[in-house]
Amino acid sequence: VGKASFGVSKCTRPARAGLKPDSPVNLDQGDPTMFEEYWRKNKESCDVVIGGSELMSYFSNPHIMCWYLLPELEDSIHRLHSLVGNVSTEGRHIIVGSGSTQLLQATLYALSANSPQPVSVVCAAPYYSCYPELADLLKSGLYKWEGDAYNFDKEGPYIELVTSPNNPDGYTRGPVVNRGDGKVVYDLAYYWPQYTAITHQLDHDIMLFTFSKSTGHAGSRIGWAIVKDEKVARKMLKFMEVMSIGVSKEAQFRAAKILGAICDGYEGFRPIDTENFFEYSKRLMIERWERLREVVNQSEIFSLPKFSQEYCLFSSEFTENHPSFAWLKCKEELKDAQSVLRGQKILARSGTKFGVDPTFARVSMVSREDVFNAFLERLSATKGAVSNGN
Ligand code: PMP
Repeated sequence: VGKASFGVSKCTRPARAGLKPDSPVNLDQGDPTMFEEYWRKNKESCDVVIGGSELMSYFSNPHIMCWYLLPELEDSIHRLHSLVGNVSTEGRHIIVGSGSTQLLQATLYALSANSPQPVSVVCAAPYYSCYPELADLLKSGLYKWEGDAYNFDKEGPYIELVTSPNNPDGYTRGPVVNRGDGKVVYDLAYYWPQYTAITHQLDHDIMLFTFSKSTGHAGSRIGWAIVKDEKVARKMLKFMEVMSIGVSKEAQFRAAKILGAICDGYEGFRPIDTENFFEYSKRLMIERWERLREVVNQSEIFSLPKFSQEYCLFSSEFTENHPSFAWLKCKEELKDAQSVLRGQKILARSGTKFGVDPTFARVSMVSREDVFNAFLERLSATKGAVSNGN
């Protein structure tokens, strides 16, 4: 007997039953599940149904360079950037990938493909912990991870990755090497109004975005690159063709629908009366950061980065950064922030993975509410535990 409908299996979702007191609070990864609630409430405007005979071809649009990009997704990407005003997409090439992780690889390939010796890949520390692995996993002869951009003094061509706002510390950034023989790649995963003020409409040569951090749909594995130079875009496309012959159309279709639903909300087409996405998500980020700062101030063990107020062109108000991660620094004498947190059953990622010392640790701020609450509870107990020598 066939099933009338095919729903998402409960077992593909992590258990939601309350956290047991002795189970660890895992905030090592930045799994953006805090936005689930919003999308649950907005079911009507973002559910998709895909027929068995639909989206079967490899091809989507023979008239554009990125031939596998669904016109619906291309349209939603342009609409969303024009709504938020964070980057200009006019006349740019859009290349879609399986998350911006795949596009980072495509970018490294495109910028080094003609080089006779490996091109150095650098990023200012603390840098996103996946960059070194991503650059060195295949031991490519085209490019090579050379670490902290502040210490980079090797001659020859280089690629500098600029993450802004930065993962892990949340600061707004620019390039630091600034040499003529370098290429700069902007990883703008967090350049959205819930995390930071939109201060400029950016127009760099290569800018990377991800569905994971813009809306929280990390599971769809959709990212996009906005590329100025046609030759670079063609090489990125070549990488995508050889590695995976494009990107899942089901995932693209869902991304198109959801990015479009955000725009619909602002353009007055919303069928139900709920808060628009960026106001909602920013409000939640502000609340979480206020609660975290209160606990950290009382702890006297940790400190957090401080951000200045900037005028946001999207929200027309002054705001500071509310990053997707808390970059905690413990007192020098405690030496190892990850271990101090682990003592309270909080799993965090050590500063050493980001190219800095172990007094730092990174903790995700975008977990589900119950996990975040448990994190704050355990963090507030740290002071007592440390002074008791636990
Ligand atoms: N860049 C940065 C700065 C990130 O934080 C992440 C995700 N943690 C990525 C890229 C990769 O995102 P995606 O899920 O699109 O592969």
